[in-house]
Amino acid sequence: MKIAVIGAGWAGLSAALGLQRQGHHAVVFEAARIPGGRARSLHSPRLNATIDNGQHILLGAYTETLALMRQLNLPIESRLLRLGLNLQAADGSFRLRAPVLPAPWHLLAGMVGMRGLSLPGRFRLVALIHRLKKQRWQLPDSLTVEQWLTQGHQSIHAMRCFWTPLCLAALNTPIDQASAQLLANVLRDSLGARRADSDMLLPRVDLSELWPAQAARQLDIRYGHAIRHLNTCSTHIAVDNDPFDAVVVATSAHSAARLLRQGTPTPAGNEYLARLAAFRYTSIATISLKLQHAWNLPCPMLMLYDYPDKRQFGQWLFDRSRIAARGSALQDASLSIVISNAGALGSHTRDEIVTGALQQIREQTRRFKPMPKVLGHELIVEKRATFAAVPNLKRPGNATPWPRVWAAGDWTDTGYPAVLEGAVRSGKRAAELIAACR
Ligand SMILES: Cc1cc2nc3c(=O)[nH]c(=O)nc-3n(C[C@H](O)[C@H](O)[C@H](O)COP(=O)(O)OP(=O)(O)OC[C@H]3O[C@@H](n4cnc5c(N)ncnc54)[C@H](O)[C@@H]3O)c2cc1C
Repeated sequence: MKIAVIGAGWAGLSAALGLQRQGHHAVVFEAARIPGGRARSLHSPRLNATIDNGQHILLGAYTETLALMRQLNLPIESRLLRLGLNLQAADGSFRLRAPVLPAPWHLLAGMVGMRGLSLPGRFRLVALIHRLKKQRWQLPDSLTVEQWLTQGHQSIHAMRCFWTPLCLAALNTPIDQASAQLLANVLRDSLGARRADSDMLLPRVDLSELWPAQAARQLDIRYGHAIRHLNTCSTHIAVDNDPFDAVVVATSAHSAARLLRQGTPTPAGNEYLARLAAFRYTSIATISLKLQHAWNLPCPMLMLYDYPDKRQFGQWLFDRSRIAARGSALQDASLSIVISNAGALGSHTRDEIVTGALQQIREQTRRFKPMPKVLGHELIVEKRATFAAVPNLKRPGNATPWPRVWAAGDWTDTGYPAVLEGAVRSGKRAAELIAACR
């Protein structure tokens, strides 16, 4: 079959590779000039360098992403820096580091050696995760993370130094709004699984080069082509007047709604569109700093405490010199500061945000040697970085009510929040469903 895939993000590329493996001819249409979608590299004129649109963290549990890289013959070890679970506050007040032991001993030993939580606090944390495991990681759909933590007797301090950063990093949604079930699903597949599944994997090359560029070289991709019209008839589907046997809509949820709205209205179609319209989005901001020379912090990734009233919004600090592969396009003397759920930045100027972040880093890294001179900065705000991972979301499936139309994307019903692995799995699933229909 000749199948159109709309969108060359991680979901679209995963779908196209799956279709190609089944012997179909997949034609990928991508509005942008490069593959990768919301996980891509770009040129920063301010820094005169290639940077990512945002620092991404993968987990050892991202099995389908890693399998896809292996299928593409990409050396995972040189493209991803694998770190054991190690959550450390930059100011030294909190640390959870899991030693190299089989699960669950790595986690228990990590909890024993944990810094920053009292013994009863650590006990309550272990008890809460243990209880969740006994409940088979199932929680009521309507429960927020904050409600779940309150029921689990977690202190304000435990929420501030452990749960809030974890929830923002995993769901990009604050604990009082985030779905406890979606967080439970992430915990199930990371902390609740093999030790290696809770490892954090940091891209050592730029995001487009990680695997999308290699996938794109094997596929028939039409860049700079934003699809505007889908028209189904009994024998085929016209994609901007070009006939195909089927189509996989692998755009963001927002763009998918615009394309699918053109179909003939049916109750099932209206229900699918209503689910798409129900998504709300949250932003992520990333500040990239170019340093005079590498800082070489003791840990590539450190937690920052944010103080919005002091215009200090940073939540994570990444030392690119500890992460980037030698010779990669990424600058090795650079830092990334990540701000999830970044809506509060809207009322501040770029200079205020960057000045606040520099002050924040200086204040919270006093135990290390001083930060080298900053030679330049870039601030990228992705306004629709992810959908808000709130309770009671009814997510659309990969099969749609329209004939010959399938969907892929992090917003489909993957069981995960909006993450890379969800995107890859959704693409694979869409390709499998098409195969099953033949
Ligand atoms: C700053 C930031 C940080 C993040 N951090 C993490 C992280 O640490 N870990 C993690 O797992 N996830 C993270 N995410 C989420 C992750 O990037 C997304 O879940 C994933 O990239 C979504 O992939 P996708 O293929 O579903 O959608 P997209 O990447 O949005 O791909 C859709 C593609 O469709 C194209 N398109 C849209 N409309 C059309 C059209 N009409 N015709 C043709 N093409 C079209 C777009 O140009 C785009 O390339 C982050 C996201 C951002 C923005």
